[in-house]
Amino acid sequence: MIPIRVNDIKQYFYCPRVVFYQYSMPVEKKTTRKMELGRVEEERIDKLEKRRKLTAYNLAQGTRKFHVWLSSKRLGLSGKLDLLIDSPDGLFPVDFKLTTGQPHRNHIYQLCGYALLLEDCYQREVTKGFVYLIPKNDAVVFDFTPDLKTETLRVLDEIRGMIDAERMPSPTPLRNRCTDCEYRNFCGDVF
Ligand code: SF4
Repeated sequence: MIPIRVNDIKQYFYCPRVVFYQYSMPVEKKTTRKMELGRVEEERIDKLEKRRKLTAYNLAQGTRKFHVWLSSKRLGLSGKLDLLIDSPDGLFPVDFKLTTGQPHRNHIYQLCGYALLLEDCYQREVTKGFVYLIPKNDAVVFDFTPDLKTETLRVLDEIRGMIDAERMPSPTPLRNRCTDCEYRNFCGDVF
């Protein structure tokens, strides 16, 4: 099984070509301004989160673990989770987002990818998780329904199928996504 990363799910929804390039034509990536800003922001978020109370997640008690590396041979999947809350009510993955809008499909599937990893690594059912919208200081809860888990596994298979077949996917139809893309030099048919 081709090992892939949880982050690939989000990228795949953003533009499948990004994932294709990463696996099929590994190239030296440029550090974009967006990536650099993201790294600086991540450090700031860690400091803030350590002061935040668990009530932000509607939880009375639990322990928090930051930047948890998860890996499963069975799923062929790995990834670094922003925050894991381990409470008597269950295990909850938390993904931090810098966006102000409501989480999109890519965020939800990515979060579910972490839930699947947690289930495999900890052998505990994971039924809910959070996307924390940093600019709004708001935690949005998501239910990991059996349908969502099945669909996430299907997306993982689809990504593997694309990599395995070395099949260049269509570009994203949203051109504004290309502006700051580190792979824009490779999309000659787009520009
Ligand atoms: S330049 Fe646009 S189409 Fe090409 S990989 Fe980047 S986002 Fe996708």
